[in-house]
Amino acid sequence: MKDLYIDFDGVIYNSIDISYKMAEDENISKDYESYYQFFKNLDWCEVLEKSTEINDAFDCIKRIMASGKFKVFILTHVISLKEAEVKIDLIREHLTDVTIIPVPKRVSKNKMVKVNGAILVDDYTENLREWSLDGGISVRFDLDMDGKGFPVIDRLDEVIEMF
Ligand SMILES: [Mg+2]
Repeated sequence: MKDLYIDFDGVIYNSIDISYKMAEDENISKDYESYYQFFKNLDWCEVLEKSTEINDAFDCIKRIMASGKFKVFILTHVISLKEAEVKIDLIREHLTDVTIIPVPKRVSKNKMVKVNGAILVDDYTENLREWSLDGGISVRFDLDMDGKGFPVIDRLDEVIEMF
């Protein structure tokens, strides 16, 4: 069984599009620190209410678990504890027995868990690059199927055939 880490924003839920749109509407300047402060105070209940699931992600994860090939974790960056709480509540409505690991935004995902030989599915190439450098297997999630140098999927259950 391989360890399989699945990102949340932009992979399970389209919360990234929604939250960036909210930042745009409030004219947040586009530097890291301004975005960080904006996201720190963001109302994540509202973000998740406005967001939708991407390509039957929760059913895909159930199928992945049923395949018996993977030990599944959800590895999601968070800025505030409220963000973690709201995401955990939402995930738990759909999945009861998956491990959820919130990662403080300023900590790299590859510093949070044992990476060697484990798979990460993520839409953000910087996370994938760091993961690979640490001996992990990186898979990009992208609805346009643009891997940017990584194997790419646009539905989560595609990993079952891939490994
Ligand atoms: Mg993401």
